[in-house]
Amino acid sequence: MKILILPGDGIGPEIMEATVEALNALDEVCGLKLDFEERAIGLLALEAEGSTLSDDLMGHIKAADGVILGPVDTYAYPSPDQGGVNPSAAIRKELDLFANIRPSRARRGVPALAPDMDLVMARENTEGFYADRNMFFGSGEFMPTEDVALAVRKITRQGSRRIAEEAFRLAEHRRKKVTVVTKANVLKVSEGLFLGEVRDVAKAHPDVELTEVLIDAMAALLVRTPGAFDVVVTTNMYGDILADEAAELSGGLGLGASVNAGDRHGIAQAAHGSAPDIAGRGIGNPVALMNSAAMLLEWLGARHGRDDLIAAGGQFNDAIDRGLEDPANHTPDLGGRAKTADVGKAGTAEIRK
Ligand code: ATP
Repeated sequence: MKILILPGDGIGPEIMEATVEALNALDEVCGLKLDFEERAIGLLALEAEGSTLSDDLMGHIKAADGVILGPVDTYAYPSPDQGGVNPSAAIRKELDLFANIRPSRARRGVPALAPDMDLVMARENTEGFYADRNMFFGSGEFMPTEDVALAVRKITRQGSRRIAEEAFRLAEHRRKKVTVVTKANVLKVSEGLFLGEVRDVAKAHPDVELTEVLIDAMAALLVRTPGAFDVVVTTNMYGDILADEAAELSGGLGLGASVNAGDRHGIAQAAHGSAPDIAGRGIGNPVALMNSAAMLLEWLGARHGRDDLIAAGGQFNDAIDRGLEDPANHTPDLGGRAKTADVGKAGTAEIRK
């Protein structure tokens, strides 16, 4: 099973090193036979190959069974014609990674504003408000005059349906509750189309309870009753914002894991950015990326019918959780003094126990 490692920018290389160390231990202990290959992406690739994401690299990404992508610092990239391609956006579009799955759960021993939170956000990942990637040709963001800026939002029946199906699949293996978040009272046509598909998919899952909530109410309810939510399904930009809110409530951005998945490809990617303000100091929290790697193993296991990979993903998550129970393994974002490498080593030690 070939796993492509792309460390990325900012704290990416540091948190990736800790993640790969733990993954190597897991591979050894569980006999998974993972085959790791590492390549440069982002600013290092730009320096070496003239592009943050070359065609050659895209070929390797497509050929891998799974990819672990570190955060990328797109703010620091030049324009696309000078090689500054946004890797996250380009990969999601090229590989049609329509589902961004972002769990947020509080952990024992980690201070959290919402200690009873345990939810998964199923965020549509290919259309919505992201005007830079929802057109076949050209940009969906444009200025008809110098004083007017317009952006096109795209919602399709197929895009809505497949993320709805993913959400209900997730709920079947969890607490059997789906909350759909829209603004269908105002954007009646586009949000109505999304909501209609979710309602339709719900009919095939009579054992799963569907609740409908408006985005503004959801922002408040996540704070007021965080423990009430199981699976949350929503459109692209609402999902982006709500998932950050949920990550923060459950302990912090440094714990926010995610997988971007399509029918054929899965990419593990921490929900946070490249944190350039702390890069190079060895204090970035690797937990989000480690949990993302665990999710990727579970996704690969489900896709290839390999129960050992699913079990190994669970074992990886448990090992990370046990490591976090000790405040000595908390990085500064969690109020501690641990280094990135300490967290990796703690997880690795727990895996080997
Ligand atoms: P992007 O637009 O790429 O998401 P951003 O600047 O909005 O970038 P982050 O890079 O995630 O967001 O950083 C937001 C804040 O959270 C920064 O202060 C950063 O240091 C902190 N942060 C993000 N990830 C981590 C992490 N893994 N460990 C510690 N601190 C982190």
